[in-house]
Amino acid sequence: MKHISILGSTGSIGRNVLEVVRQYPGRFRVMGLAAGRNISLLKEQIEAFQPVLVSVADQENMEQLRQALPGEWQNKLVWGPQGVEEVATLPGVDMVVSAIVGAAGLPPTVAAIFAGKDIALANKETLVMAGPLIMDAVQRMKVALLPVDSEHNAIFQALAAGRKDDIKQIILTASGGPFRTFSTADLWDVSPEQALQHPNWSMGKKISIDSATLMNKGLEVIEAKFLFDIAIEKIAVLIHPQSVVHSMVEYIDGSIISQMGVTDMQIPIAYALTYPERIKLNLPPLNLIKLSMTFHAPDFQKFPSLKLAYQACKQGGLMPAILNAANEVAVAAFLEDRIRFPEIALCVAETMTRTSNGPATSLAAILEADLAARVQAESIVCAFAMAKCQKQGEALDCPDLPPGHPPLPLTPST
Ligand code: MG
Repeated sequence: MKHISILGSTGSIGRNVLEVVRQYPGRFRVMGLAAGRNISLLKEQIEAFQPVLVSVADQENMEQLRQALPGEWQNKLVWGPQGVEEVATLPGVDMVVSAIVGAAGLPPTVAAIFAGKDIALANKETLVMAGPLIMDAVQRMKVALLPVDSEHNAIFQALAAGRKDDIKQIILTASGGPFRTFSTADLWDVSPEQALQHPNWSMGKKISIDSATLMNKGLEVIEAKFLFDIAIEKIAVLIHPQSVVHSMVEYIDGSIISQMGVTDMQIPIAYALTYPERIKLNLPPLNLIKLSMTFHAPDFQKFPSLKLAYQACKQGGLMPAILNAANEVAVAAFLEDRIRFPEIALCVAETMTRTSNGPATSLAAILEADLAARVQAESIVCAFAMAKCQKQGEALDCPDLPPGHPPLPLTPST
């Protein structure tokens, strides 16, 4: 029996984890759940899996949940970042599924590692922001770090076929997102609703936008570099619109080992939960007879976010965390319809120029850079938003720039 905690239980990954667990009640015991504000779904999960500790976003959510549950739950509810950490470090838990979106997933994942928990990692920001620190902690604490991200899970499986020294390159596949066939000019007019329509995968909002800009693939390149300890020069991206091949490893003899399957996150989740065993899943088979597969090179001009991720990775230090923070701010602004789609990448590029890099030697330094980048990115977003509103003749209520901040010279180029 494996005892697990799930950070991000009401999100897309968390729901799929519980779907796998539901199929194997004798194999897994859910000990802790951490969620945000989806209290009604969380209540269902609590009733179905009877965890011993549950964390929610804030105190108000906790009161809401308390009222919805019987009295015996009074002492099993916690909240906020501290609450998530309690769930992440809960005694008796063997494995923590880290599936909170964004930078917020980093501190509880670090806490779980130092509490000696194995990690099933779905939160890519953990490695993007703090790759060397995390891999060092994983080694020191002798815990397992198993990738849930479908590409990394595929690579992890393909790496079983050869020696690390014999790898020629790792090839991450990307669907190309909903705007793969759009012209660069047309991207200025796409709406958040259009961007949320991913062709193959059903995912949360943030990652859907990241898939549309290809930043998701960029973050995955950085994640792969640290997770597999491989030079960035040996990590390639290939557009594969059908999302059948989830990624590949090419060896020096020319053999390419890929992992294929239907687009369902239960497969990588189950593999991470039960590695090195495999379990049967209730999924439709991949229909090879109906299959057609194509591959082509990514368009770095049209999707500059991917190029920026490679650049940040090469610059190293705090830059991947800076890239990630700027992207989170810009994506949130795009989802709120404050900025236009190509301005997401412009904001990231400008934030990388304005925020100073340094060595990523401590979690504190990384979180400080994350914050500094967010302040920069927010001011850049404001400049874009102001220009957008002026164009539409609206007034804009924008927060003041931080003290000592240089004036904003940016005007979005159309
Ligand atoms: Mg992925």
